[in-house]
Amino acid sequence: MSETPETLRLMAVHAHPDDESSKGAATTSRYVAEGVDVMVVTCTGGERGSVLNPKLDRPEIVENMSEIRRAEMDRAREILGVRQAWLGFVDSGLPEGDPLPPLPEGCFALVDAQTGAEPLVRLIREFRPHVVTTYDENGGYPHPDHIMCHTVSVVAFDAAGDPDRFPGTGEPWQPLKLYYHMGFSKERITALHEARVLVPGPDGSPARGVADRGL
Ligand SMILES: [Zn+2]
Repeated sequence: MSETPETLRLMAVHAHPDDESSKGAATTSRYVAEGVDVMVVTCTGGERGSVLNPKLDRPEIVENMSEIRRAEMDRAREILGVRQAWLGFVDSGLPEGDPLPPLPEGCFALVDAQTGAEPLVRLIREFRPHVVTTYDENGGYPHPDHIMCHTVSVVAFDAAGDPDRFPGTGEPWQPLKLYYHMGFSKERITALHEARVLVPGPDGSPARGVADRGL
């Protein structure tokens, strides 16, 4: 009699609601389709997000940003087929200007790393992922919340299996691997280039630029 293999579990840690859809959604969907139990973790509520679609740049949207982003996350969760959890921190916003303005008081990027990691350690000990993904040291792009997402992921990954750290947040669990998935490596650029060059268009026409094919 063979044992039923344990379901594999993947945790994808993101900074804001929408990052799960714009960064790695194809990967999480693929693993869900393969039977992996996937949890998206969202560090902040995305309260300081900007409205990029001019049709949505209306006062009732801007004033209800948190509620709208929660509703969008509900939909993303359904479409991707993932679980999802909020860490509950407040969006730092993307500082713009020269010199850059100070970060707003109480935002995620100003939280100390231990405080930021604690709810993530709790989630890791509860969900017990085999693999965790996060952004690289530069955040994939230099948004302070994305860099902080990296920081708390690394601290939590290192601490979750250690019974002496973060007592009272559940049974220790050490995930096996931590991957950074938003880096700009030569391998990634080469793979994108080869996909562009080698894969023909949907009608069998010779391959064109990535942008032409809507990738
Ligand atoms: Zn983001």
